[in-house]
Amino acid sequence: MAQLAGRHLVRTGRDPHEFGGYFKVFSQFKKQCLARLEHGLPSIHHRPSKQAALDVPSDEAPATLKGFDAPSEALRKLWPAGEAEARKRLDHFTDANIDDYDTERDLPAHPGTSTLSTYLNAGVVSIRQCLHAALRHNRGELYSGSSGATTWMSELIWREFYRHILEGFPRVSMHRAFRPETEALPWRDAPDELAAWQEGRTGIPLVDAAMKQLVETGWMHNRLRMVTAMFLTKNLLIDWREGERFFMSHLIDGDLAANNGGWQWSASTGTDSVPYFRLFNPLSQSQRFDPQGVFLKQWLPQLEPLCAKTVHEPAKVSGGLFAQVDYPKPIVDLKRSRERALSAFRNL
Ligand SMILES: Cc1cc2nc3c(=O)[nH]c(=O)nc-3n(C[C@H](O)[C@H](O)[C@H](O)COP(=O)(O)OP(=O)(O)OC[C@H]3O[C@@H](n4cnc5c(N)ncnc54)[C@H](O)[C@@H]3O)c2cc1C
Repeated sequence: MAQLAGRHLVRTGRDPHEFGGYFKVFSQFKKQCLARLEHGLPSIHHRPSKQAALDVPSDEAPATLKGFDAPSEALRKLWPAGEAEARKRLDHFTDANIDDYDTERDLPAHPGTSTLSTYLNAGVVSIRQCLHAALRHNRGELYSGSSGATTWMSELIWREFYRHILEGFPRVSMHRAFRPETEALPWRDAPDELAAWQEGRTGIPLVDAAMKQLVETGWMHNRLRMVTAMFLTKNLLIDWREGERFFMSHLIDGDLAANNGGWQWSASTGTDSVPYFRLFNPLSQSQRFDPQGVFLKQWLPQLEPLCAKTVHEPAKVSGGLFAQVDYPKPIVDLKRSRERALSAFRNL
């Protein structure tokens, strides 16, 4: 059994090397995790004894800590610090949203996910507390019952999987691709396009809205993390490490294992990553997951005059309407850039 699954989710007490090493494929890792969980749930650790109080307000980074600016007032409001807030989010999610998770989790305009990543990564709520809460809701069922609950538990296991990968293959934490042959990809040096991506000026509304969400809130919806990462690494053919770095410097839930795993998955350089020929088309993703353009208009208010059909592709608006909308033309042709990416991967 995986060492990390042993440490974080499933207590096995056995060395993973007994099982031939570390898992590389998520489905096998998940299967083992669930099989172990069936035999007994790891208990939640006892609350540690109280430490002597420090003379530091709990929701403020000490001003004297070098390299750590205190978060803005707006960020503090969005992500209140502390265990009570994490508990509140976990309770609210398991009471109100978990059953609809599998149908709602891909819609960026809907608050259908738990928003617990920040709290999990800060250590104020544990993966075991999340697992116990989901199972309590699902009457102890790991495989059946609420499909929302089982899907959510599967996402918790993705988190464990990437930690397991980081531990088993530490090269991924040293800016190296999991799949060494992908180091030969001809990444483009395109600083203007990289800046357009970072600043939400690519002319592709879903990508731009997502990047604005990231920079303003410190968080980005999971579907959009995949869309923006694929757009950067496939359509722009820019090295995934640029994106990984940018995300890490803006995400409030930034986590080395999950961020690296997500980037290498999207760039098809990682373990069990998306096959290179399965490129998301950001326009179809936009039409499918934000059909009315609600999310797009929230982050790109200049698109407000456009209807549900044209908002996904403002450059296609006919007549004088586009001239009235202050929005850039796409920086890249989606079809041609797709071909360029496919050919780069084929030539490896
Ligand atoms: C390019 C890219 C970068 C990412 N960077 C990070 C990161 O720095 N930190 C981070 O925590 N997650 C990262 N993720 C995973 C995922 O996007 C976030 O965990 C999720 O959006 C957090 O929102 P939530 O708490 O509402 O998640 P929920 O949907 O409620 O899921 C519950 C928890 O499961 C875990 N989880 C869910 N999806 C994933 C996943 N795909 N991989 C790993 N764990 C997952 C998270 O801990 C999350 O809090 C990244 C994904 C991609 C594609």
